Amino acid sequence: MARFTLPRDLYFGKGAIKELRNLEGHKKAIILSGGSSMERFGFLDKVSNILKETGLEVSFIKGIEPDPSVETVMKGAESMREFGPDVIIAIGGGSTIDAGKAMWIFYEHPELNFDDIKDPFTVPKLREKAIFVAIPSTSGTATEVTAFSVITDYSQKIKYPLADFEITPDIAILDSDIPQTMTPKLVAHTGIDALTHAIEAYVASNKSKFSDPLAKEAILMIYDNIVASYNGDVEARGEMHIAQCLAGMAFSNALLGITHSLAHKIGAQYHIPHGCCNAILLPYVIQFNSKTSLSDYAKLAKMLGLPGNTEKQLTNSLVKSIEELNSHLNIAPTLKENGVEEELFTSTIEYIAKNAVLDPCTTSNPREASPKDLEKILECAYHGKPVTF
Ligand code: FE
Repeated sequence: MARFTLPRDLYFGKGAIKELRNLEGHKKAIILSGGSSMERFGFLDKVSNILKETGLEVSFIKGIEPDPSVETVMKGAESMREFGPDVIIAIGGGSTIDAGKAMWIFYEHPELNFDDIKDPFTVPKLREKAIFVAIPSTSGTATEVTAFSVITDYSQKIKYPLADFEITPDIAILDSDIPQTMTPKLVAHTGIDALTHAIEAYVASNKSKFSDPLAKEAILMIYDNIVASYNGDVEARGEMHIAQCLAGMAFSNALLGITHSLAHKIGAQYHIPHGCCNAILLPYVIQFNSKTSLSDYAKLAKMLGLPGNTEKQLTNSLVKSIEELNSHLNIAPTLKENGVEEELFTSTIEYIAKNAVLDPCTTSNPREASPKDLEKILECAYHGKPVTF
């Protein structure tokens, strides 16, 4: 048995937040936001005005921090219980939407504690009290369509990727006006994160006939638009917003691989943004995975019109094209050039590799990877040496 789950409704394009009017008939909406950018650019007001005009009572949870904590989640759930919304609307980056998904669980099930839902597929039935609407402001995580939420337990210094199709949002709104507020650096990092989602999903062990076309279309659109979007092209920015969502639909169901396993651990250790970690690692992981996924990578290279006659040549072209994208986006190709000190690297590589193997994304990587393999990949990514084993 295999399963493929997506939100029930997607509204997309310029001004798509107006579609919140479709919530007519609901009574109370709680609006979640992060830092101040959605407020500053007027989107928070827009959302609340549309809801009020539609006849809903509105309340807010503002200031959700990046990498939201278990405490933030529990506090938010309590506010929800006090207000009693039948719609939860999260507008912002991945952190805001992820926090909202987790709050939703404890709003509906106050009897649970965080330990009860840490393992994949342990979230009980939701939607007894509220539905969930996600409005992303960045173009990368695609949490608006995925079954995941990353919450940090700061007391134990652990990030928990909650995973359950119950927390796949009901409605995703991709308004192309909203990602125009991103800085170029954020465009670069989130865009390559989306590319990594699509490429990892395309070779992941859980890939299917449903996820493949989404991953392929996402990859084509990202290659066509990422650099222009980085350079401020309004249309391209809107296209990237759609492309990252397609990638999200693919990886929410096909899952990911060791680029993400490693990125999760080096991001925390070296304080490099998530998308930037993926940008550095992806070429090396493709070389490693080419032992099992050569023909899939070659298919992608062919689709992109990259040069090569054999599958090996085509896969090499794919790697080279990602390195070129990184360079256009001003992302340095190695961990060393991204400022990781050699001493810190050698003293942490074993720990990172050991932990990365245990990351849930390792299970769906097409090629089995041992801690030693991951150490060797990290060595290559540190010094910029090709992966040949
Ligand atoms: Fe990611």
